[in-house]
Amino acid sequence: MAQKSNPTRSLSRRTFIAGTAAAATAGGVAGWVGGQALEKRHRAPAGPFFGQRSHCHWIESAGIEDTPPLASLQGDQTADIAIVGGGYTGLSAALHLAERFPERRIVLLEGTRVGYGASGRNCGLLLPFINGAESIAHELVDAGRIDEARKVFDATSAGIGLIQELAEQRGIDCEFEPVENLMGAVTAQHEGLLERQQSLFAALGLEATWLSETELRQRVAVEGYRGALTVPTSAMINPAKLATGLLALVRAAGVEVHEDSPALEIEPGTTVRVRTPRGTVRAPVLVLATNAYTHHLGFMRNQVLPIHSHSIATAPLSESQIEALSWSGREPFFDVRSFFNLFRLTADNRVLLSGGDGFYYYGGAAIDREGHPDYERLTRELGQLLPALADVPITHRWVGHVGTTLDFAPTIGAVGPTDNILFAGGYSGHGVTVAVLAGRLLRDLVAGEPLDPAYDFVLDRKPPRAPGEPLTSVGFSLAKRLIRWDDAR
Ligand SMILES: Cc1cc2nc3c(=O)[nH]c(=O)nc-3n(C[C@H](O)[C@H](O)[C@H](O)COP(=O)(O)OP(=O)(O)OC[C@H]3O[C@@H](n4cnc5c(N)ncnc54)[C@H](O)[C@@H]3O)c2cc1C
Repeated sequence: MAQKSNPTRSLSRRTFIAGTAAAATAGGVAGWVGGQALEKRHRAPAGPFFGQRSHCHWIESAGIEDTPPLASLQGDQTADIAIVGGGYTGLSAALHLAERFPERRIVLLEGTRVGYGASGRNCGLLLPFINGAESIAHELVDAGRIDEARKVFDATSAGIGLIQELAEQRGIDCEFEPVENLMGAVTAQHEGLLERQQSLFAALGLEATWLSETELRQRVAVEGYRGALTVPTSAMINPAKLATGLLALVRAAGVEVHEDSPALEIEPGTTVRVRTPRGTVRAPVLVLATNAYTHHLGFMRNQVLPIHSHSIATAPLSESQIEALSWSGREPFFDVRSFFNLFRLTADNRVLLSGGDGFYYYGGAAIDREGHPDYERLTRELGQLLPALADVPITHRWVGHVGTTLDFAPTIGAVGPTDNILFAGGYSGHGVTVAVLAGRLLRDLVAGEPLDPAYDFVLDRKPPRAPGEPLTSVGFSLAKRLIRWDDAR
């Protein structure tokens, strides 16, 4: 495995001891690197990126809009740790930090409502590995270093166990359902990829079964696939209920949470200043948990891109409709294409279909268009994939923003001119477990504690940069064509 130098060693010597004098020592170069002035203030443009026009089943089922928002930030305040962003990354960081440092004042600012980002709108599948870890495990297995490969698997899949613990021991009712996922193959090339995946799981001592087309159709009557691999150690949840459940734990742990409090400007320094419409927070440590929206604040520009992904949900199916689909095991299904289809049952037996395409808009704008043509495509494809559902009404349509890096691997570590602004994101569509895990890793970084070397490959890395506009939008359209061609092979 390619090992980078462990950045936590240097980080732990620096600013990550919130609320202590050590915070003051690291920022001597604030604003200057290599003699060049850095942008001192990071401002978010005014814009509609916090709007929620589309109608998301999960947000509705979690009742987020049935309660008034938490009070917004007012006046000038100080904190030991400030967190911007109320998705899984921010909430998990808040929870882990509050439990590790009960004496510290932690303030979390969410621009709209907690769970309005990807965390409340995703498909709720919990999958093993962090993006990028699988190829490391393959290399180790190919080199006969099975124990090390297993360690990578365990460390990078630990988010599943964390969520299971939150559900079963910490009382979060997120409809946690341990299930085998089914990963489908459309072409012979995909079958080859899944065969390699199966041998990786086997080498790690995990059972993954190849299902022929007939066997697959006995699990779920889906059309258009040559077969599927069962994915072990996976589960599904109601994603918005995980967010609201985390919010309750975070508040019970003493974190002050403000909704309707978008960070409009971040001023780096040994004390970071975050400005919102009605108040400011100053803190020696800031956790930037804004993922796909981070570029609006001037960080991770061209490195984490907001890719829009649409989803639809049907009215609840009757028992006989589920029987007609032979879907008694309720297994979620997705395929191995880059623009993959993903469908699953919800707790109240709706079918959710998501993906199949992705959209990037000029400058990384966040766009939520009620009549987006992708909803029609999804509706059509639902009838083709599961013909038994051709006439079932569609009740919900929504869009979510996937924070994506160009190499699909996430990044966790310090960003900005000083080392006291921490970021985790760019999970590239695989972030439910990873974001919850990232919250724990962010806590360890703040505490200056060493991290498991299995996480070296995401720590403090610099994801490849998109070229900037107009080339990023043009490049994205071209890349989409290439991806479609590759997906069809
Ligand atoms: C359609 C879709 C399906 C997906 N399916 C899956 C799946 O099945 N399995 C899986 O593992 N992953 C999936 N993902 C990815 C997963 O949802 C994300 O990786 C994860 O939720 C990221 O959490 P986060 O907290 O980092 O980001 P978010 O949940 O996006 O949270 C960021 C928060 O920051 C807030 N914010 C932004 N800017 C500001 C600001 N200036 N001031 C204050 N607050 C701000 C936002 O309002 C938001 O609440 C999917 C994503 C999408 C969109």
